[in-house]
Amino acid sequence: MGAANGAGEIVVLLGSPGVGKGTQGVRLGRDLGWAHVSTGDLLRAALEEGTALGTEAARYMDAGELVPDDVIVDLVREHLAAMSPGRGVVFDGFPRTVPQARALDRVLSGAGRSVSRVCLLEAREEVLVKRISGRRSSPNGRVYNVHFDPPMRDGVCDETGEPLIHRADDRPDTVRARLSVHREVTGPLVGFYEARGLLARVDGEGDIEAVYRALRAAVLG
Ligand code: AMP
Repeated sequence: MGAANGAGEIVVLLGSPGVGKGTQGVRLGRDLGWAHVSTGDLLRAALEEGTALGTEAARYMDAGELVPDDVIVDLVREHLAAMSPGRGVVFDGFPRTVPQARALDRVLSGAGRSVSRVCLLEAREEVLVKRISGRRSSPNGRVYNVHFDPPMRDGVCDETGEPLIHRADDRPDTVRARLSVHREVTGPLVGFYEARGLLARVDGEGDIEAVYRALRAAVLG
């Protein structure tokens, strides 16, 4: 386990776009005092800042395609290097390919750490499409859903009062592209981690509370 040397756990959340990795990952991070590292959020922040990396990544993101592995791995390596060493981490949306998973192993082993557990959130495709189309996010990372978890005031974050964002890549055609990329490219990661005895499957179709309870038990169990 990653905590064997006294360092915090390293948990990876796997699952299709829309399954709740972001919502659950933010909460898990807050609850356990771990860093929540979402490569999607890091890329969107880079775009917002107008960096060359952000502009380049947006071309892939807008098409629902994956950003090249070397770009993502460098981004994660830099982010981890800037964090306090040994802090627990929950990864959301990374790794997304087997080469990224191997690269993560190398980066972690350099720090004497390893992935502790991988939680696969599972839900049927029709549930995912409904969730994604209703998703709205706050600039502070809180994610709402107009169908299942609406804000108190339409289009406005309960916590910060800022306008909520409807991501460009949450459009239906891009969503279908993302789901198919996920099946083909990210699917093999399940076998990769299962073979290492790290995989726990979590039912992602219940309400947010039920999924969170199951996920927390899988992470800590
Ligand atoms: P997400 O917010 O995790 O749904 O990611 C949004 C988009 O960012 C994805 O559709 C990809 O284009 C890109 N992206 C995020 N994480 C990764 C990753 N680990 N590898 C490649 N592309 C990524």
